[in-house]
Amino acid sequence: MFLILKFGGTSVGSPQRIKDLVSLTVSDAPKIVVLSAMSGTTNALVAISQALYEKNTQSASAQIQQLKENYQKVVQELFSKKESVQKATQLLTHHFDYIQNFTLDVFTPNEEKAILAQGELLSTALFHYYLEEQGVASVLLPALNFMRIDEHEEPDLLFIEKNLKAELAQHPSTKLFITQGYICRNSFGEIDNLKRGGSDYTASLIGAAIQSPEIQIWTDIDGMHNNDPRVVEKTHSISELSFEEAAELAYFGAKILHPTCILPAQKRNVPVRLKNTLQPQAEGTIIANIPAQEGIKAVAAKDGITVLNIKSERMLLAYGFLRAVFEIFERYKTPIDMITTSEVAVSITIDNDKQLPDVLKELKEIAQVEVEKNQTIICVVGLLPKDKAGYGFRVLEALKNIPIRMVSYGGSTHNISVLIDGAYKKEALIALNKHVFHY
Ligand code: ADP
Ligand code: ASP
Ligand code: MG
Repeated sequence: MFLILKFGGTSVGSPQRIKDLVSLTVSDAPKIVVLSAMSGTTNALVAISQALYEKNTQSASAQIQQLKENYQKVVQELFSKKESVQKATQLLTHHFDYIQNFTLDVFTPNEEKAILAQGELLSTALFHYYLEEQGVASVLLPALNFMRIDEHEEPDLLFIEKNLKAELAQHPSTKLFITQGYICRNSFGEIDNLKRGGSDYTASLIGAAIQSPEIQIWTDIDGMHNNDPRVVEKTHSISELSFEEAAELAYFGAKILHPTCILPAQKRNVPVRLKNTLQPQAEGTIIANIPAQEGIKAVAAKDGITVLNIKSERMLLAYGFLRAVFEIFERYKTPIDMITTSEVAVSITIDNDKQLPDVLKELKEIAQVEVEKNQTIICVVGLLPKDKAGYGFRVLEALKNIPIRMVSYGGSTHNISVLIDGAYKKEALIALNKHVFHY
């Protein structure tokens, strides 16, 4: 059975890193290796697309040329045989001519998605050629042949399973497959993607589709940490997490995992292991269907949250009001993260405010609405049994100097979420590190 190994942007971020992958991927165990684009590439492709939206063809062409030159250097450093350099140079010409062609066209989100897909197509082909040069047999699996999202932009697991298995069956003796993370097709068959950071999601979907023994996410840190290492100084790696705990942390801002990538693995009970490419011997984190140990394990923060305070006398002693409110969010496909209610008001947070003007227009027909942007959800995760006292107190005590806008506790035994103004995020994470984890 195939293990799934996903390597993120930094793990394929330089010729040396790509070379280092050989020792991690070549062994007797059958594997499907999922690669992200080299770090910086997707951001560069986003910037090129931005210039094309703005019809700034000159700037787009200059950026395309710059990116191509970076890749030419990668090719020179990565390969030693003339034939490999030639083959890889042809690959670059093919992909960069393709990108350059978009400077001549009308530019829409479909063209942008086609451009964004080039990073993963390049990294996987380069690694495949490198393995070939090293005399290691591997097969490149085109993700666009099996990875698909449906009309609601949700991965279509049954389609993925059927088509991936058909692709694998074409190579019965192959032990090493390489495929692209992040990219997929949508229900119209067009090139699409699983959103930024989506290669984790690809790995989880593949692992779930073929019921792999384990999905390994290899990145630049030794597993899930108890707090955001980009914000607070002292953090530690957590050795075990339940699926529920990991899913909460990923959804509420722990960038190490794509927000919804735990769900497919959890659905088919496939363990997820987080490992560090820079320190392969470090234990990392195992995420599985394991009985969680009681206590607070980690905190994460999700920025860019919008809160809507919805107030109406109609809510008083009435039923049906909340349904009317929720139906509006459903109609505009806007997921709600946190909710708190009082007698005549309900506060709701969303992180996707694309449809906010339409949502507001309809809400204002039934209630008074106030909107505040730039809020942050601080999510405290662990096993917090309902019959145990003290957890809510510890969290709120740690945050005693920070104005709290909303609290959500008791929805599950896995988290306490607190909404604060984004300006207090750092202070809140440091305070929790000090008072809950005693750093
Ligand atoms: P990759 O390119 O491999 O997908 P990412 O940059 O997406 O890597 O994710 C790894 C980064 O996530 C780490 O370098 C770290 O800064 C950040 N991160 C944020 N929160 C956490 C956390 N709770 N535990 C570990 N890493 C975290
Ligand atoms: N390359 C994509 C991104 O930068 C996907 C990923 O790295 O997971 O978002
Ligand atoms: Mg990532």
